[in-house]
Amino acid sequence: MAAGAIAAGKRVPIREGLLAGSLLELDQVRIAGSKCTSCGETSLGTMSVCANCGRDTVRAVALSDRGVLWSYTVVRHKPPGDYRGPDPFVPFGLGLVELPDGLRVMSPIECNIDELKIGLALQFRPYVRMDADGREVVAFTFVPAAKGAGHV
Ligand SMILES: [Zn+2]
Repeated sequence: MAAGAIAAGKRVPIREGLLAGSLLELDQVRIAGSKCTSCGETSLGTMSVCANCGRDTVRAVALSDRGVLWSYTVVRHKPPGDYRGPDPFVPFGLGLVELPDGLRVMSPIECNIDELKIGLALQFRPYVRMDADGREVVAFTFVPAAKGAGHV
């Protein structure tokens, strides 16, 4: 994807093919998945070929916006690169979120790190941030489901 091809102000996904739904309607944004009609495998992102059986019998699906914390770590040092979190840096949870669709997604977990625990019920939450070129980038986090209630 050529960065210059996108007009300033237009919303783009944090990674091409990773989000489903109109990026202008955050309540409708979901993580994009691909479900194989031959073997039943669901994969993360938009794919043209099944990651499990190699057939091209995949169709785009929107993954569930609910999940459960399967495992996590606490990031205690500011990541290198274009990290755009709080300054000064605040440690945050980085989790593997198990979705009912049968796969796990790595995501920041937005809560106090003391609240992190295996099995924590989580709610998908997309948000918009600006990148260095002035584009609105749609990224996502997961929040404890109790706090996410009423979001959708
Ligand atoms: Zn397959």
